[in-house]
Amino acid sequence: MVIFKNINDIKKYISLKKEGERKVGFIPTMGALHAGHISLIQKAKEDNTLSVCSIFVNPTQFNDKKDLEKYPVSTDADIELLLNAGCDVLFLPSVEEIYPDGEANFKTYDFGYLDTILEGAKRPGHFRGVGQVVGRLLEIVMPDSLYIGQKDYQQCMVLKKLAPMMGLDNLEVIICPTTREADGLAMSSRNRRLTEPQRVVAAVIYQCLVSIQSKQLTSHFDIVRKECEDLLAAKGFATEYVALADARDLTLLSDYKTDAPMVALIATKIGEIRLIDNMLL
Ligand code: AMP
Repeated sequence: MVIFKNINDIKKYISLKKEGERKVGFIPTMGALHAGHISLIQKAKEDNTLSVCSIFVNPTQFNDKKDLEKYPVSTDADIELLLNAGCDVLFLPSVEEIYPDGEANFKTYDFGYLDTILEGAKRPGHFRGVGQVVGRLLEIVMPDSLYIGQKDYQQCMVLKKLAPMMGLDNLEVIICPTTREADGLAMSSRNRRLTEPQRVVAAVIYQCLVSIQSKQLTSHFDIVRKECEDLLAAKGFATEYVALADARDLTLLSDYKTDAPMVALIATKIGEIRLIDNMLL
C-alpha cells in the first residue's frame, strides 16, 4: 500500500496508474476503521484495479465541536487493517492540505430538502460539510466509482446528488450494506466510546428497526414508533427521531405504505454518544 499525505503526489500517482487503464474505486472514511469500512474496501477491490481509501476527520461536518474533539483516532491500527485488506492507496491529508485557504472558503453544495430533515435538521451544517469534503476528495482522486455505506442512508442520498452537481456524470456511486455486530448493532467508529453497559443495551436500536419492519402489515406506524421510543427511553436513550420515509427520496411518511419502498431510521443518544441506524422495509 502506498501512503500519500500530499495532494499533488497522490494526483500524479493516480493519473499515472490511470494511463495503464486502471479502474479506480474510492472509499472516503474518517478512520477508526472497523469491519464495515473494510467491507467497502473489499467491494472496491472486487470491482476495480486500484482501491484508494482516504482517512480524514473532516472538521466542517461536525456541528458539535465536542464530538470532533472526541472522535476516535487510531491511524496505526487503521493502516494495519488496510494492509491486511489489500488496499492499494491510502490518502492521509492534514486539515491544511484539504482546506489551504481556510475551511470557510471552500466550495459548498445545496442539497435542498435532504438538508432540512432528520440528520439535516438535527445536525445543521453537517451535510454542507460532507458535500464540501467529499467534493474536494473526488476532485483529487477522480475515481470511477465511489463506495459508501447504507449505514448513513441520508448521506448516501446526499452523495448520489453530489456527483451530478459536480458534473461527474460517469461516477458510479455504490451503496454497500451495513455491517453489524453479532447482536445487530451497526458497526460505527463511535461504538468505541460506549461503556460496556452502554454497549450491551445499544442492540436495542436494531431490535427497534426489526420491530418496525415486522409490524408493517399489522400495525400503524405511530403505535410502533411510540413503542420504540418507550423502549429506547427505558434503556437509557434520549431519542432524536424514529422515522419512516420513502426509500427513494426520503419523503417522511406518517404511516406504512404498501406501494412504496420504505426505510426506517433512528437517531438516539446514550450518554454523550449519538448513534444512527436504518433498515429498508
Ligand atoms: P465514516 O468513517 O464513519 O465517515 O464512514 C466511512 C464510510 O463507511 C461511509 O460511507 C459509511 O457509511 C461507511 N460505513 C460506516 N459504518 C459502516 C457499517 N457498519 N457498514 C458499512 N459501511 C459503513
